[in-house]
Amino acid sequence: MVGAGMAGVQTAVALREQGFTGTVTLIGAEPHQPYDRPPLSKAVLLGKAEGSAFDVDFEALGIELRLGREALGVRPGEHELETGAGPVPYDVLVLATGAEPIMLPGTEGVPGVHLLRTLDDAERLRPVLARQHDIVVVGAGWIGAEFATAAREAGCTVTVVEAADRPLAGALPAEVATRMAGWYADAGAVLRTHARVARIEPGAVVLDDHTRVPAGAVVVGIGARPATAWLTGSGIELGAHREVVADAHLRTSAPDVYAVGDCASFPSGRYGERLLVHHWDNALQGPRTVAANIIGEATGEPSAVYDPVPYFWSEQFGRFVQYAGHHTSADTTLWRGDPAGPAWSVCWLRENRLIALLAVGRPRDLAQGRRLIEAGTVMDPRLLADPAKPLKAATA
Ligand SMILES: Cc1cc2nc3c(=O)[nH]c(=O)nc-3n(C[C@H](O)[C@H](O)[C@H](O)COP(=O)(O)OP(=O)(O)OC[C@H]3O[C@@H](n4cnc5c(N)ncnc54)[C@H](O)[C@@H]3O)c2cc1C
Repeated sequence: MVGAGMAGVQTAVALREQGFTGTVTLIGAEPHQPYDRPPLSKAVLLGKAEGSAFDVDFEALGIELRLGREALGVRPGEHELETGAGPVPYDVLVLATGAEPIMLPGTEGVPGVHLLRTLDDAERLRPVLARQHDIVVVGAGWIGAEFATAAREAGCTVTVVEAADRPLAGALPAEVATRMAGWYADAGAVLRTHARVARIEPGAVVLDDHTRVPAGAVVVGIGARPATAWLTGSGIELGAHREVVADAHLRTSAPDVYAVGDCASFPSGRYGERLLVHHWDNALQGPRTVAANIIGEATGEPSAVYDPVPYFWSEQFGRFVQYAGHHTSADTTLWRGDPAGPAWSVCWLRENRLIALLAVGRPRDLAQGRRLIEAGTVMDPRLLADPAKPLKAATA
C-alpha cells in the first residue's frame, strides 16, 4: 500500500481480516503514526484531542509500516515501486495517496497563509486560533465551513470569502446551498460571496474590488486534488482531475495495481457515471473491495464490484449535516421540514426512487434514506414530504 491514510490503513486491515497471510507493507510519506483526518478540523484543531491516530495494532496484525518515506514513481512492468529510500518490489500494489489541498496561486510560502489537510497543518493552526486573531477563510466549502466553526468557537473574528454566489457551490444545488448561507451569520462569522482574492498582504486579504479584509491569518480551503504527480510517466491512466482511473473492481490500467480512496475514481453502475469521492466513508468501504479482489485473484474467485451509495457528514455551525447518494440525475427535489429551522432534509428522486438525501440534524432520515437508496425502493412523494412520517414509512 502506498499512502498510510484511511484508505491505505483500511486496505491493510481488510486484507488481514479477510485472511490474507502474505507480507503487507504500508508506505507513507508522513512521519506520524497513521491518523484519521476528520478530527483535524474539529476536536484536534480546538485542542480537545491531542491527535487522531488510528486505533490499529499494526504489529499484532503483521503489517509493516514504513513511514516518512515518499513514493517517487512506479514501474508496473517490473513490479517495482521507487521510493526516497530505494526501490521496493511488489506482487500487488495499492495506490492510496489521497488528495492534497489546492493552494491559492501566488501564496505558497507566504507567512500567515495556511492549509488544513495534515496533522502538521492542524498543529500549526492551533496556536493561531488561541491568539484570537482576525481570520480570513478563503472558500466556503466543507473545510472552510468547519474551520470557520472552530475559529468562532475559539473566539476569533472570522470572515469567509467565497468567489461563488453561495457556500458549497461545487457540492450542492443552489436552492439547497443558499439555505445554508445564514448559518455563518448565526455563528457570528461574516460570509462574503462574489468575493475573489486579488492578493494577500501582511495583515490583510485584498479582494478584486479593492476591499481590504483585515487578516491576522488566512486559511485556504478551495478544494483538493488527487496526489498523483508522482505517477506521471508510470503509464498508469490518470483522469480529467488527475485522479487514478480505476475500474469497477478498483483495478488500475496496470496489472496488479489497485487504487482506492481520495486518489481514485471508479465507474458507478448505480449512478451511470464515473465518481471521484473525497470523503471518509469511501476510504473505508473501497478497501474492503480491494482486499477481496487481491485475495480473490490469488485464489481464482470472481472479482468483487465496488458500487457504493456514497456517504459523508460534516459538523458545521452547531449542525450535523449528512449526505448519502448522488443527486445530479434527479428529476424531483422534495423538502422535509422547514430549512429555516434547525432540522430538515432534502430528498432527490428519479422516477420516484430515492437517489440522494441531505439531512440536517435528522440522522434518522439519513440512516433510513441510505437503506432506501441502496434498495432502490419506489417512494410516495406525498408521504415523503411529511417530516413527521418516518422515511421508511413513505414507500409507495
Ligand atoms: C481536515 C479534514 C476534515 C475532514 N472531515 C471529513 C468529514 O467530516 N467527513 C467526511 O466524510 N470526510 C472528511 N474528510 C475527508 C476524509 O478525511 C478523506 O476522504 C480521507 O482521509 C481519504 O483517505 P485517503 O487515505 O484516500 O487519503 P489521505 O487521508 O489523504 O491519505 C493519503 C496519505 O498518503 C500519503 N501520500 C501522498 N503521496 C504519497 C507518496 N507519493 N508516497 C507516500 N505517501 C504518500 C499522504 O501523506 C497521506 O498521509 C476530511 C478531510 C480533511 C483534510
